[in-house]
Amino acid sequence: MKKNIVFCFLFTSVIYSQNADQQMLKEIYNYSLTQSKCYSWLDDLSNKIGSRLSGSVGAEKAVIYTKQQLEMLGLDKVYLQEVMVPKWVRGEKETAYILDKKNKINVPICALGGSIATDKKGLTAEVIEVHSLKEVEELGEKVKGKIVFYNRPMESFNVDAFKSYGNAADQRHSGAKIAAKYGAVGTIVRSLNLRLDDFPHAGAQSYGDLQKSQYIPTAAISTNGAELLSKKLKENGNLKFYMKMSCQSFDDVLSYNVIGEITGSEHPEKIMVVGGHLDSWDLGDGSHDDGAGVVQSMEVAEMFKKLNYKPKNTIRIVLFMNEENGVRGGKEYEKQSKSKSENHIFALESDEGGFTPRGFSFECDEANLQKANSWKYLFEPYLIENLIKGGSGVDIGPLTSAKIVKAGLNPDSQRYFDYHHAGNDRFDAINKRELELGAAAMASLVFLFDKYGID
Ligand SMILES: [Zn+2]
Repeated sequence: MKKNIVFCFLFTSVIYSQNADQQMLKEIYNYSLTQSKCYSWLDDLSNKIGSRLSGSVGAEKAVIYTKQQLEMLGLDKVYLQEVMVPKWVRGEKETAYILDKKNKINVPICALGGSIATDKKGLTAEVIEVHSLKEVEELGEKVKGKIVFYNRPMESFNVDAFKSYGNAADQRHSGAKIAAKYGAVGTIVRSLNLRLDDFPHAGAQSYGDLQKSQYIPTAAISTNGAELLSKKLKENGNLKFYMKMSCQSFDDVLSYNVIGEITGSEHPEKIMVVGGHLDSWDLGDGSHDDGAGVVQSMEVAEMFKKLNYKPKNTIRIVLFMNEENGVRGGKEYEKQSKSKSENHIFALESDEGGFTPRGFSFECDEANLQKANSWKYLFEPYLIENLIKGGSGVDIGPLTSAKIVKAGLNPDSQRYFDYHHAGNDRFDAINKRELELGAAAMASLVFLFDKYGID
């Protein structure tokens, strides 16, 4: 009899708790889809401020704007964290053409981040097409005096477009470094885009440990441009390519991570980070990458305040500076946190675009992954189906608390690389409801880990 009563009590309290969780998620989603601020914040960030490359005026304005908006939410703390960031400036719009006998055929290119300029008259040279870094290593001295053209497309057979991105990005990141070792005079890299179009896609590249005197100009070419150049090269292997770029690197400048906190009601010393990155590339306005992640993170704080949810742990919204060309914000955040012996139990990043959320990927042990999966029934009504092992986010990557669950929001990836780092990553490419659903999914996950803790 007694046993039955205990069992009945436990059973009832589990059901009660399940109902309370379902109710909370319902409130979060209702709020997000009807009253949230994230879309209008993104409108301001994209259309009033615009691109936010580290060290630019746009980045500076974005720091001031997001700090002000966080202050208006009535959080317990809002502050800036100083961080020195690289400053690279594109300069004049690049020009490039294929010089086929006497014909000049213009093609769209953009300098890759950190690239040096060509000389003022531009650079003209023969082109050698390759499909991998290894091919350049094998060609060795044969690339001397030439422009190396990396033209391995992103794989179209992966359903996860991020996998295709990961498998093609080495050409952009290390293409110039490898080609320069063998005396190439420049590189052009096929844009990391699954679609054929006319947008060149920017992105970071690194000369590694080359001497400055060995640096060569490096640019991305649109996918249509890459197809055309490849076709023309098959017809005439001696054609030349002309490119002119005036980009420049400056000394590091002072910038900031923007941070807002709701202090935990039971465990203020346990920190849960929710974030995205405030900087963006300079060609579009960075609405998807990563304006979306910034406003979704801010929305988590707004919803907790408006729904009067008092978290047990400290919820810290972190808008990281300089993910795109240095991750200085993420590294500085970890450095500061370590020096204060802070204890992070959880970190969530949104940096895969503002598209329909499909799930989360987790960097954590089995027990916590199972825990997340025990909430699957709560997420299913909202079409969040995947709670899987995988990467989380570049900015929260440096975090090294002893016991931490890291998670990344996984939106549908099919259209992301149509816009990623390109001139068309603009506010009109954002769907309001998709953005809001992402914010709601994030707030739900943060709520559940806050309420039940990590194992
Ligand atoms: Zn990003």
